Amino acid sequence: MISAKALEKLRSLKVKKVYLQIPEGLKTRALSIAASLEEKGFTVVLGLEPCFGACDLRDREAKQLGCDALLHIGHSDFGLGTSVPVVYDEWFSDFDPVRVLKKNLKKLDKYDFIGLASSVQYADALKKARDFLESKNKHVLAGKQGRLLLGQVLGCDYSNVALIEDRADCFIFIGSGSFHYSGLAARTAKPTFFIDAETDSFTLVHENRDTLEIKRRLRTEKAKDMRTFGIFVSTKPGQSGMEVAGGIRKALEKKNKQAFIISADMLTKEKIMGMGIEVLVNTACPRIYEDQGMLGALVLNPEDVKDI
Ligand code: SF4
Repeated sequence: MISAKALEKLRSLKVKKVYLQIPEGLKTRALSIAASLEEKGFTVVLGLEPCFGACDLRDREAKQLGCDALLHIGHSDFGLGTSVPVVYDEWFSDFDPVRVLKKNLKKLDKYDFIGLASSVQYADALKKARDFLESKNKHVLAGKQGRLLLGQVLGCDYSNVALIEDRADCFIFIGSGSFHYSGLAARTAKPTFFIDAETDSFTLVHENRDTLEIKRRLRTEKAKDMRTFGIFVSTKPGQSGMEVAGGIRKALEKKNKQAFIISADMLTKEKIMGMGIEVLVNTACPRIYEDQGMLGALVLNPEDVKDI
């Protein structure tokens, strides 16, 4: 389960005690990964805090617990400076999208230039989809820039999509869950198809920029009538929005709103229950905005504040 490359890196760093960080989707394998590392001579501290990205490194905890390094499974380097060395071991699914594409090829008849995108786990699947579509005489586009893999998107970084959007007739996103494809559909006016690796389905995502803009306006209209705002700043190292929070507070106060900067590692309904916060302005992961139904408060993005 641990790649040879990651093991070699741990050994080259002369790591004895390692802090193991595993994303939510791979938690069922956590104990077997820990056991295999122990068998190879490492002492393992298995981190239990929920983890959804490499923006959420637990290097401070690793240091506090006397670990020589952090082994982060499942995500690629987010570019953060850290207090102990971090070894990234991306996890790639062996999902094959070709059988789904074969079944649904007719639906792509009217599109010649097809943009591909995936979450990191499906980077190999994206290449299989590219090869198949090219064999069917389609022009396949996939962006590649910075530390992102070919076609990779993060919920907070769709720059690979922006690179090819003008030339693509449609997009296909390969992954699981709704977070990434709905973010992609929100950023493009082009039809977006979703290959769901968990169900082998191929769906046209209907929610596009226009419907999302209408929903956004409804939220800002509602927020105009509300008075008590919490500006949420996460303590996760790659999500800190402290530098924008002060500006947001001033803007809200000018609109005669009561605004408080609130902070936690992760925001949950229980943490704000009973406080009387009516609107949350989220400076952290965009997933919070997507999950707003679970927070019991209206959630806005920082850029929405000007429209209140
Ligand atoms: S901030 Fe959110 S979307 Fe961005 S990498 Fe972290 S978990 Fe993913």
